[in-house]
Amino acid sequence: MECRICGSETESFLSLGETPLANSYVAVADLGRTEPEFPLELSFCQTCSVVQLTHTAPPEMMFKHYLYVTSTSNTFRQHFTKYAEDVAKEFNLNENSLAVDIGSNDGLLLKGFQKFGVKTIGVEPASNVAKIAEEDGVETINAFFNWNVAAQIIDSKGQADVVTANNVFAHTDTIKDIVKNVRKLLKDDGIFIIEVAYLVDMLEQMTFDAVYHEHLFYYSLTALKYFFEDNGMSIFKVQHVSSHGGSLRVFVEKQESGRQVDSSVAEMLGKEKGLVDSIRTYKKFAAEVYDNKEKLVKVLKELKGHGKSIAGYGAPAKATTLLSFCGIGKEVIDFIVDDSPLKQGLFMPGSHIPVVGPEMLEKKRPDYILILAWNFADEIMKRCSEVVSGKTKFIVPVPEPRIM
Ligand SMILES: [Zn+2]
Repeated sequence: MECRICGSETESFLSLGETPLANSYVAVADLGRTEPEFPLELSFCQTCSVVQLTHTAPPEMMFKHYLYVTSTSNTFRQHFTKYAEDVAKEFNLNENSLAVDIGSNDGLLLKGFQKFGVKTIGVEPASNVAKIAEEDGVETINAFFNWNVAAQIIDSKGQADVVTANNVFAHTDTIKDIVKNVRKLLKDDGIFIIEVAYLVDMLEQMTFDAVYHEHLFYYSLTALKYFFEDNGMSIFKVQHVSSHGGSLRVFVEKQESGRQVDSSVAEMLGKEKGLVDSIRTYKKFAAEVYDNKEKLVKVLKELKGHGKSIAGYGAPAKATTLLSFCGIGKEVIDFIVDDSPLKQGLFMPGSHIPVVGPEMLEKKRPDYILILAWNFADEIMKRCSEVVSGKTKFIVPVPEPRIM
């Protein structure tokens, strides 16, 4: 395929098969309908070093109604509150400043800026979360960010001192347009800050289940540098932060703005050299992913062969990738527990395993629990142990399958 960033021919290195959209949980009334499935395949571009999906699923099917509300997670609440505070202090934001957040979700980050008197406006395509933000006092334009939206903001509030886009850059193939319009929206010395999941963390932690259709791009700093410079912007600082299993917070300015570049940029680029720019890295990763799939399927088959009952815990989007790729269905997993009431009563995309509340654990007392939200494994094991009997064991699927 042709690289979405630089136009070069890319090399495919990992296929996770045809999978349904990871967040399209199925209601009971829709169980008889055929779900759309799209190829889930990663490819690497030797020219700009970006990793991307070969296939783009229709955005309107993925982002119009989002079940994920940032503020419901304690971890994210702390993350974005601290984020706003750090940025406001470092760049002296105050009541004369304007902050625009692209993909503003329920307005959590902007609320943090408001504490410093900063004027704010959010842009959010999912109408349900945009509404939550509005009700909470964060003015929000319910749309995808484009030139019309940028012009509307400039007209009503002037140019922005800071524009943020968190977990947006991986999610859309319109990043060139976004940057072009951010350039127009920003004051000459304005800053653009993005957070994206960090490719190197995914490679090191073997978190291949972070691959799903909503995540179109997988970035290293090397790839981001190429992309921004190609679009009249430059990176002047980078931080490695913990969200989403490891992310980059990247500080960008207009090329002509000319701030001093922080040493963090050269440091990280140095670490990435020879790793993220080589197809060998990705072929090795793919081989390990196929190997892990085989191991997990073998473990589950053996347990079922011995008449054991298995439940799942956690129904995040990545569970759809794991279950689809490994071909694990209702014949293996009886039900999946999720703490979010929004998901309970629905069925997993593709496999149609029912998603239920935690009370089912006490009722059914499964022999094994496959932890699909493995990033919360410790917390889940602790909580489950209080409910199920001591005989229940846990299976953690990544970085490689193990029984605990
Ligand atoms: Zn490229």
